[in-house]
Amino acid sequence: MTDRYAVIGNPIAHSKSPAIHAAFALQTGQKLNYTRLEAPLDGFSDCAAEFLAMGGKGCNVTVPFKEEAYRFANRLSARAELAGAVNTLWLDDDGLVGDNTDGAGLCRDLLRHTELRGKRILLLGAGGAARGVIAPLLAEKPARLLLANRSADKATQLAERFSAANLQATGLDALAGQAFDLVINATSASLAGQQLPLPPSLWRLETVAYDMMYGKEETPFLAQAAAGGVAMRLDGLGMLVEQAAEAFYLWRGVRPETQPVLTELRAALGTH
Ligand code: NDP
Repeated sequence: MTDRYAVIGNPIAHSKSPAIHAAFALQTGQKLNYTRLEAPLDGFSDCAAEFLAMGGKGCNVTVPFKEEAYRFANRLSARAELAGAVNTLWLDDDGLVGDNTDGAGLCRDLLRHTELRGKRILLLGAGGAARGVIAPLLAEKPARLLLANRSADKATQLAERFSAANLQATGLDALAGQAFDLVINATSASLAGQQLPLPPSLWRLETVAYDMMYGKEETPFLAQAAAGGVAMRLDGLGMLVEQAAEAFYLWRGVRPETQPVLTELRAALGTH
């Protein structure tokens, strides 16, 4: 029987994960079937348990179920433990394993464009996406990683989970006059079409701006960076493909090439 995988979320209709995993499977000659599953908002565990009981080998988990998936797994990777969130599950002989590939995906995508070692990084947001990427970013040894969130206390609590001297936290309103080499937007403001209240002093020609959100249009955050004169502006499509590749590798033991899949996806979306 063909091995079955799925992505579980709500809403899930627009997820690109089935297309990405189908492209990886074709490229690597792996036989598998990957579908979307929309779980009711209070029904993630039942949906995942049913899929696995029916022979599913593993699944990806997306908004808003990553924290529930963290509680649902029998065993966790170190990076999922630190993140407090799981986006990849699979069954092995001892039960259900949970991992988080978001941070590895972000770092792999970023490293295609810029160095991280010794850099000053600003991470905007303290939700699920931000939690998943802190440990992998710290592992790249930046000079400084500042978490800034609208609710400053959430950023402070998050930073306390990691004992790192180069990690600090603040509110969005305390950024004036500070300089960074890389600014990452991990808030959902772009999703709502909103710009963040960021000081114009944040932007320089050589700053790298990265929005985890992706889509057809330039995101409000990247438009803000463009208005500030930033030359290198990157959306989160590369992160999406890279976190999927990491999950594919965990499941199948084969690492797919990501660049051709990313190029195909960009062409389909009409972005460049
Ligand atoms: P959450 O709902 O968990 O967190 C939302 C965060 O955004 C919070 O920190 C919240 O601040 C902040 N926020 C929301 N609206 C505003 C606003 N108007 N002004 C300032 N701050 C705001 O979302 P996620 O962390 O799950 O997702 C965040 C983004 O990352 C989404 O756009 C998502 O699509 C993207 N993403 C992309 C991935 C990829 O592979 N490319 C993977 C995962 C996520 P507060 O705490 O004050 O409410």
